[in-house]
Amino acid sequence: MQTSWVITIDGPAGAGKSTIARMLAERLGAVFLDTGAMYRALTAAAMDKGVDLEDVESLLKVFETTSFQFEHDGQVLRVLVDGQDYTQRIRSPEVTEKVRYAARPPAVRSRLVQMQQDFARRFPKVVTEGRDQGTVVFPQAKWKFFLDADVLERARRRQKDLAQSGRYVSLEELKEQIENRDASDRTRSVGPLTAAADAVVLDTTSLTAQEVVEKILQIVGSGDGGS
Ligand code: C5P
Repeated sequence: MQTSWVITIDGPAGAGKSTIARMLAERLGAVFLDTGAMYRALTAAAMDKGVDLEDVESLLKVFETTSFQFEHDGQVLRVLVDGQDYTQRIRSPEVTEKVRYAARPPAVRSRLVQMQQDFARRFPKVVTEGRDQGTVVFPQAKWKFFLDADVLERARRRQKDLAQSGRYVSLEELKEQIENRDASDRTRSVGPLTAAADAVVLDTTSLTAQEVVEKILQIVGSGDGGS
């Protein structure tokens, strides 16, 4: 059983998924689910507990020894790890660099997929974003989208986001980080980054977030469809 009204948005790093999913959720009166935050929360918890991220058994034990809470707070997904607010911590460069260890093992993914489905069941309408939402987590979703964009444009967007929090990283470095993360996301055996066969693929390279949202709204109609 899954929530009946789900829109999935998948795509590579920096394609605008979070921004678009958040804006769409707001327009449609739905809850926004950022599934990358769950992979990040596990990674951050493991790092802070001194767990060897490359050891799958140890990583799985983190689920037993840690309480993870994901709370919908306006259009932000608040992340609590053992009761502590990790919403900012999970965005740190160290966590971004290490998150691939949590994203690769099938047994770890299956626990996180369960958490995503459990989260969605709590709400009548959900806009979810990630890499495998339309293919694995919500295969019955009524509307599926796959956002893509030129890698240099994605690096530029990341650079702008980082600049807002006062950090400068060169375009070359960001492009390389994005390409590495994409390669790792595309080549894993379970839940790889790929468009579902029935997803609408949108290239956002030359579109503003607002334009992408309008295109999606045209496709989903008034937004109160779905059953
Ligand atoms: O979207 P975000 O950059 O926060 O995701 C962090 C990482 O989590 C991604 O690079 C990917 O490896 C992993 N992830 C995933 N499946 C998802 C969402 C994120 O493997 N549904």
